[in-house]
Amino acid sequence: MEKEVDINKAVRQHLEMDEFFTGGFAVKSNTARSEPQQQEDKAAAAAAARELEKIADEVCQCRKCDLGSLRTNAVPGEGNPNARIFFIGEGPGADEDSQGRPFVGRAGQLLDKVIKACGLKRSDVFIGNILKCRPPENRDPRPDEIINCLPYLQRQIEIINPEIIVALGAHAARTLLDTNKSIGQLRGQFHEYYAGLGRVPIKLMATYHTAYLLRNYSEENRRRVWEDMQKVLAELGLPIPEHGR
Ligand code: URA
Repeated sequence: MEKEVDINKAVRQHLEMDEFFTGGFAVKSNTARSEPQQQEDKAAAAAAARELEKIADEVCQCRKCDLGSLRTNAVPGEGNPNARIFFIGEGPGADEDSQGRPFVGRAGQLLDKVIKACGLKRSDVFIGNILKCRPPENRDPRPDEIINCLPYLQRQIEIINPEIIVALGAHAARTLLDTNKSIGQLRGQFHEYYAGLGRVPIKLMATYHTAYLLRNYSEENRRRVWEDMQKVLAELGLPIPEHGR
């Protein structure tokens, strides 16, 4: 027997997907902070920014593996030192290598749309990668490269102390969660990232990498990413933009 189709629901989901990937949602409102709290926030952000700068300098000098001599530019990561969300990808591609900035190529433009669809700006979040230098021909990161590079990211996470990490794609999710599960198994639910003894674990949402999404740009995959991001927004108590409902 054919399943009855809810046309209204299908149309709404279609519109919501369109809106999600073309932008046009409300921008988040700032929670009110008292004057002294704002001063404290500023001082903490300045201290975190200095620490992140130190890490970036180290990354730019790093020669722990061969990727250090193959790169045009290292890509330490960038964003808000007080970010509530830390997006983590796999490693720089050609565009990132030439500019020294994360997610600036096609996959990055799609990530920008995802961020905008969440009612956020790129400057609200922090964006980084498991590897800080581009692997030749964009091959998968090798275990020895990950082992050498991961401490930089771990320190960035420790300084920023985000409320949520969004792991983009299998490499980021598997590395951060120390698992071999597929991204299909990992996405859509919160996991815990252990930032070290005595530290409160950070919630981690795994979702598809935007490069994968570009290669597999189906409505279903786009809906899955939007569903994952809705969970992130809900967890942070942020409004889920109207068109995303
Ligand atoms: N893909 C990644 O994983 N990271 C980038 O910075 C760009 C593309």
